[in-house]
Amino acid sequence: MPENKNLSSEIKKQLPKELVEFLRLAGELAQKRGQKLYLVGGVVRDLLLGRENFDLDLVVEGDAIALACEMAEARQCQLVTHQRFGTAKLAWDGGSADLATARSETYAKACALPTVNPSTVRDDLLRRDFTINAMAVALTPDLYGQLLDLYGGLSDLQGKLVRVLHGKSFIDDATRIWRAIRYEQRLNFHLEPETLELVKRDVDYLKEVSGDRIRHELELILKEEFPEKALCRADELGVLSKLHPKLKADDWLSAKYEQARRWSSPDNPSVGLYLALLVYRMGSKDVEEFISYLRLKKASGRILLDAIDLKANLGQLASPQVTSAQVYTWLSGCAIEAVVANIIAAGMPSAVPRLTEFVEKLRYIRPALNGEDLKKLGVAQGPEIKEMLHRLLEARLDGKAATRRDEEALVLNWLAGKGA
Ligand code: ATP
Repeated sequence: MPENKNLSSEIKKQLPKELVEFLRLAGELAQKRGQKLYLVGGVVRDLLLGRENFDLDLVVEGDAIALACEMAEARQCQLVTHQRFGTAKLAWDGGSADLATARSETYAKACALPTVNPSTVRDDLLRRDFTINAMAVALTPDLYGQLLDLYGGLSDLQGKLVRVLHGKSFIDDATRIWRAIRYEQRLNFHLEPETLELVKRDVDYLKEVSGDRIRHELELILKEEFPEKALCRADELGVLSKLHPKLKADDWLSAKYEQARRWSSPDNPSVGLYLALLVYRMGSKDVEEFISYLRLKKASGRILLDAIDLKANLGQLASPQVTSAQVYTWLSGCAIEAVVANIIAAGMPSAVPRLTEFVEKLRYIRPALNGEDLKKLGVAQGPEIKEMLHRLLEARLDGKAATRRDEEALVLNWLAGKGA
């Protein structure tokens, strides 16, 4: 490993010009203030790997907020500061950057929130999750581009290894177990053998972590390009079952996630759709437990429960006698991801065309006439308007009205029938 690796050419080559200028200026201002400034974390790892990453995380030895204020003035950026944490976010048209005061962390007990103190970049790197995320690049002009690699991050990048910085890392913060799996699978790395043993040893500490923090890590996994890779690995390592003992990640799930991507293309599947497929093979009581453990937001929880509920009632949809208006009535109250999850995962092929018809066509159908039009045609103001609009929607759904004229004729017919 070269002792004095300098990343200034990687910075120039891989980051947009504007970000490079920002880093240069930040380094100059820091030096004038007598501060040391570093680029840290994922962006350093990705500069070395040649992967695109424009998330600038900067660490200052000294007051980060004061430096951020000067930067905001010099570059006309928006500035948000958090005095309590000694952090600041700078944002401008073409990008953003997070600045933090270098700090040390100590953990009084397993998985408790750490005690934080201002410190050096050395300590700031030591509190990090893995060696590959614990490198820094100096930004002050005297050292510009120099890699600070105190824990063997570069050699682990070359060896494709995810390695914790010390043996108590997962006890301090068990969410790092999920993070380790995420990086391993994203980068096609391996858990370094001792780190792997620590995962197995410390997996039970996951139960000490709040559902909110676990949910955050799970959501990060579901935003990866191929989340099933991390989920299958988590299953293999006994990590997935800590979310719920009945969860499985296997070939079935991988195939469904692949289908979800095809369905959602060109967008990525939503976290809600991925979650619905993850829990699809569980019963509603288990899904409720899963939702409450992870403290899922109301809307996400609803997607999961709707998906399971719909799964139990697919038989209704499979009958050829069911009209499109009935399909609409049954499904219009469901979260759309729940319907899509059933298209992808239902074990009842005869229901799938009806679900697909709803997602692709029925849910967009609206009558051409509105309340005002109905009044002009002679419908009395009040609840009758709503009822007529509903009847028109049903007529549209069942193909009994295709045009505005058809609808007008139906309304006049209904009014004549009422009068008669
Ligand atoms: P990604 O590539 O997924 O954006 P990142 O490496 O930028 O990941 P963030 O989650 O944005 O990761 O966190 C920024 C940095 O903070 C990480 O690189 C890591 O050094 C550190 N970090 C984040 N979470 C933890 C944690 N739980 N324990 C220790 N260090 C952490």
